[in-house]
Amino acid sequence: MTRLMHRSLLTKPPVAVVARGVEIFDADGRAYIDASGGAAVSCLGHGHPAVLEALHKQLDRIAYAHTGFFTTEAAERLGERLIHDAPDGLEHVYLVSGGSEAVEAALKMARQYFVEIGQPQRRHVVARRQSYHGNTLGALAAGGNEWRREQFRPLLIETHHIDPCYAYRFQQEGESDEGYAARAAGALEEKLLELGPETVMAFVAETVVGATAGAVPPVADYFRRIREICDRYGVLLILDEVMCGMGRTGTLHACEQENISPDLMTIAKGLGGGFQPIGAVLVSGVIYDAIRQGTGFFQHGHTYMGHPMAAAAGLAVQEAIHQEGLLENVRNMGALLEQRLRARFGNHHHVGDIRGRGLFYGIELVAERATKKPFVREKKVNSVIKREAMARGLMVYPMGGTIDGANGDHVLLAPPFIVSEGDIEQIVVRLGDALEAALGS
Ligand code: PMP
Repeated sequence: MTRLMHRSLLTKPPVAVVARGVEIFDADGRAYIDASGGAAVSCLGHGHPAVLEALHKQLDRIAYAHTGFFTTEAAERLGERLIHDAPDGLEHVYLVSGGSEAVEAALKMARQYFVEIGQPQRRHVVARRQSYHGNTLGALAAGGNEWRREQFRPLLIETHHIDPCYAYRFQQEGESDEGYAARAAGALEEKLLELGPETVMAFVAETVVGATAGAVPPVADYFRRIREICDRYGVLLILDEVMCGMGRTGTLHACEQENISPDLMTIAKGLGGGFQPIGAVLVSGVIYDAIRQGTGFFQHGHTYMGHPMAAAAGLAVQEAIHQEGLLENVRNMGALLEQRLRARFGNHHHVGDIRGRGLFYGIELVAERATKKPFVREKKVNSVIKREAMARGLMVYPMGGTIDGANGDHVLLAPPFIVSEGDIEQIVVRLGDALEAALGS
């Protein structure tokens, strides 16, 4: 029995006591390779000296000042830095404490924008199935993971879901990428027309799907079409890059590879690399100007928004990534990871798909390869793999999305940007052993 309410109320996790580089050590002295960066958080690994130094300095100067009274140098500098590297049109930064808070703020900002410009009838949110946008009520409503939503449905605001761009599951036999992109994006237009486009305020999507479906990148041209459809009907495009953003896919923002800019973008995990809790919304100049010229303030706010310690961590993490040229390592080690995963698991009879970008890879596990039939939920395949991996000193992020009423098990890999070739080899060896123990060879 423990006084802390852990994620599982049935088991107590190991006690993490110290972490350096790509490893976390528990109280029994066991080492774990952090091959998932927690949940795609620890992009610099653990204990990065420059970040620790920046945090000590910030703590010495000022740890907290409420944003109703003050701004701080740390927050201002982070704002400058993020906008310097932001996709076209994103000109302002709203700092919060995590991913769900960022999504909530983006949804409310979209709504306030339309109220300010005299279109208060725009209230509908369209999002996608097999998506995750956070666990607070607004973000949970936007998310399309039925398992997470089920028991809370009566509390959720009404949202509308279309199928995601998920080639392994939804691209038809013989259908070209172009044809599939047109069909998958066309689902948004159909939904807008069904709802009445003038009543829709935003479409929300993860540029590369993370936790619910396991690093699913879009097919080429999908997001260009989505951008076009949003523009045609005056609907805001919110890209949720909480997990896939900030370098994870090999470019600072995943949407750079789609050649589009959203109107609002949420970022979090890799922003502060886990050194502090921090998230942000990047806001278009158009939205900012409308709110500034209207009410003059965004009717929102949290006690810890723009926290100086969090901002100092974000700034130090982003500077380290830049100065150490780590995006290049993401691309190089990502290519190696993909190659090793395909070599090791490409023919495994329970591996349906291996996909991803940069250092963001998912392995989808199926009961039967030929039919892509998922495992039944009761088998708890992803939990068994997690347990077997932990027993071998490896952290991987196991998740299930809802596919045909089953779990849609997958394993997500998101190692720190500092991984070496040797680390990649170890990750694949240990994951192979864990999968064998869980599913047979
Ligand atoms: N959006 C996405 C795409 C996420 O992956 C997550 C977290 N997994 C969230 C939002 C929620 O972030 P947080 O857990 O920091 O609230």
